Amino acid sequence: MTTTPVTEPSPRRRRSIQWHRARLQDSWMETRTARTLVFDVPGWPGHDAGQHVDVKLTADDGYSAQRSYSIASVPNSSRVELTVQAASGGEVSPYLVHDMRPGDELALRGPIGGWLRWIADLEEPVLLVAGGAGIVPLMAMLRQRNHAGSSAPFHLVYSARTPDHLFYANELHSIGQNVSGVIIDRLYSRSGLPDDPRPAGHLRPADIPEANSTAHGAPRVYVCGPSEFVEHATQILAGRGHLPAAVRTERFGPSGG
Ligand SMILES: Cc1cc2nc3c(=O)[nH]c(=O)nc-3n(C[C@H](O)[C@H](O)[C@H](O)COP(=O)(O)OP(=O)(O)OC[C@H]3O[C@@H](n4cnc5c(N)ncnc54)[C@H](O)[C@@H]3O)c2cc1C
Repeated sequence: MTTTPVTEPSPRRRRSIQWHRARLQDSWMETRTARTLVFDVPGWPGHDAGQHVDVKLTADDGYSAQRSYSIASVPNSSRVELTVQAASGGEVSPYLVHDMRPGDELALRGPIGGWLRWIADLEEPVLLVAGGAGIVPLMAMLRQRNHAGSSAPFHLVYSARTPDHLFYANELHSIGQNVSGVIIDRLYSRSGLPDDPRPAGHLRPADIPEANSTAHGAPRVYVCGPSEFVEHATQILAGRGHLPAAVRTERFGPSGG
């Protein structure tokens, strides 16, 4: 068997990771429990698709809590977009989803992460496997592909609980219909659409394309979501012939999906 070596994104520039003040400029609900927040971050050094930030909230009494959130937006001046799923009983995410108001500020540190990263110079096919909120950094890659005019073949396999839990539903529909070289598969783990030929359920081997099924060779694979989803997906990927070295994963913890 021949294998395609996995090329690394080149370190285009080394950036120091600093704290910034971030002001909420705009926001909208993606689902009943998930919100996209658009921050203006003066001095933001830019980022690559797939990277994340640390967000720190500080109460009046000085108590602070810090969590990581992936960047959903393409690199673009001082604008940083996050999409947060409210975890029931969580400390930080319910505030970000339900309580933060335009003009409010928080501290944000980044960009962070060199592993789950895609840059438009990469030409090999890409397979994105997302569970729940794990779609966020993978959406940034899809957006960056289109923004940069890349022709790298992309295939997104996105598992959500139900159609009502899909993030970026309209945008994904539009990309799937109109952008050549991109395949988008939506799967539902709990209940799907009435005419969906795939019965609802967790990710199955048949949902994942085989490693050498593209004309351009084996894809670079990115998997993101709750820990259990990532474990399950990586096992299926191995069974479908994807080499561990070609698979990059990021786990959001139990509340990510
Ligand atoms: C690199 C990275 C990127 C991420 N990107 C995203 C993203 O783009 N979008 C996103 O929505 N999330 C993302 N996450 C997850 C995010 O960082 C938080 O973990 C998530 O928002 C939950 O934080 P929280 O403070 O609301 O919940 P926490 O307070 O951390 O609680 C998490 C869950 O655990 C439960 N819990 C807390 N304490 C206990 C306890 N003592 N006993 C039992 N249960 C308990 C809570 O009820 C809640 O359901 C990312 C994580 C990582 C590591």
